[in-house]
Amino acid sequence: MFRTKCASFFFAFVACLAAAAISAPAHSQSVTLFEGARLITGDGGVIADSAFIVENSQFRQVGRKGEVALPQGATRVDLTGKTVMPALVDAHVHMGYRKGLDFSQNNYTRENLTDILDRFAYYGVAAILEAGTSRSDLVYEMRANPPPGALFRTAGRGFGMPNAGPGGPMRDSAYGVTTEQQARQYVQELAAKKADMVKIWVDDRGATVEKLKPNLYRAIIDEAHKHGMKVFAHISNLADAKDLLRAGLDGFAHMVRDRDIDDEMLALVKERPNTFFQQTLWGERLSFYNSKPGWVDEPLLRETFSQEEIRLLGQSFAKPENPNARAQGATNLRNIAKLKAAGARFVLGTDTGGVTGGQYFGLGSHIELELLVSRGGLSPMEAILAGTRNAAEVLGQGQLGAVAAGKSADFIVLDANPLDNIANTRRISKVYLRGAEVPRAKLTAKWQATFRAPAPAR
Ligand SMILES: [Zn+2]
Repeated sequence: MFRTKCASFFFAFVACLAAAAISAPAHSQSVTLFEGARLITGDGGVIADSAFIVENSQFRQVGRKGEVALPQGATRVDLTGKTVMPALVDAHVHMGYRKGLDFSQNNYTRENLTDILDRFAYYGVAAILEAGTSRSDLVYEMRANPPPGALFRTAGRGFGMPNAGPGGPMRDSAYGVTTEQQARQYVQELAAKKADMVKIWVDDRGATVEKLKPNLYRAIIDEAHKHGMKVFAHISNLADAKDLLRAGLDGFAHMVRDRDIDDEMLALVKERPNTFFQQTLWGERLSFYNSKPGWVDEPLLRETFSQEEIRLLGQSFAKPENPNARAQGATNLRNIAKLKAAGARFVLGTDTGGVTGGQYFGLGSHIELELLVSRGGLSPMEAILAGTRNAAEVLGQGQLGAVAAGKSADFIVLDANPLDNIANTRRISKVYLRGAEVPRAKLTAKWQATFRAPAPAR
């Protein structure tokens, strides 16, 4: 306000500055009262007619409209008719390999990583966890000196047998281990870098690679726990899931999908209520959609993806997956219901940026929420908690995931209520991260300019 006034009345410039110096309290530019929104707080609660104060990068006070006073000098923002929810946390993504339609190691650059963090921020994702496919120490540098977008958290390099970890161009990013001593040494290396989690791949990928051996993952889990780090696992089989639970695993990067979860597994889960489960339904979407979903044509996609990217996404649904993959998809969905009944802790994870996740950064996080509800049987509130509080907790990012006094002011202003229809998390009006509005119009303009740019001359 102050700036606009000064700029539009140049002749009054000096007077305006003088007046501001006299009348404005010290923090007049950084205290804002947001009033009138339906507020999804991120702890399971809703405040119908809310008011909350953001001071600099944090929420200072949260309550009902009328009970939270306008601080002296603060700006008031009317959010009547809007819904506010905490920004999301996506705890399973692959950073830096995807760039538009290209999927290669060459894209693992500071510029591209920064762009991807902006893409997540655009969609209201406050933080992401890179799931074990770091190629360099760039992530640690960027974590220490964060660019403006989503917070970059990482599991560094994950673990598999040699040349048997992640897929596609990410394959060589993982540590290949054959001895317990080696495994422990690499975990110590991650601990020294203060990785945010440890990722392991326990999957023979349809008998095409060697699966990480139980003695090796036991050594990794034991060593990680000694250093206060959690371990999460890429799995596909029930037998592996059970043994990993017995070995003390903290979370799953995918669901059991070779067979239905049985009572033995459910008992193990109930004994370990802190274990977290990521469904990665986004990554596995082709195993249960039968045709192009309506959301492919939503205007939101055109704000961040090229026509060609949207066309290819739509086209991907035209070719059904093989019957085996479809059976696994159906099993996956049945298992979500079983875990929900057992009180399991769901955490948002999409696999975006990976082999099946594609380059649809940010969009995937929202479609995941919709799929958790429409296919997985979670309530909209349960899906939102998976993407906010639960994901923030497992990442050790206690400042995220809720709209509450003292937390980081990371929130999404929505035009419609996602508790009525979870698809409404995509009706984004504004996004605020660390108290500042994400410049969505500017970001869109930047991306759209690249869509129109001619191909570079050879
Ligand atoms: Zn993954």
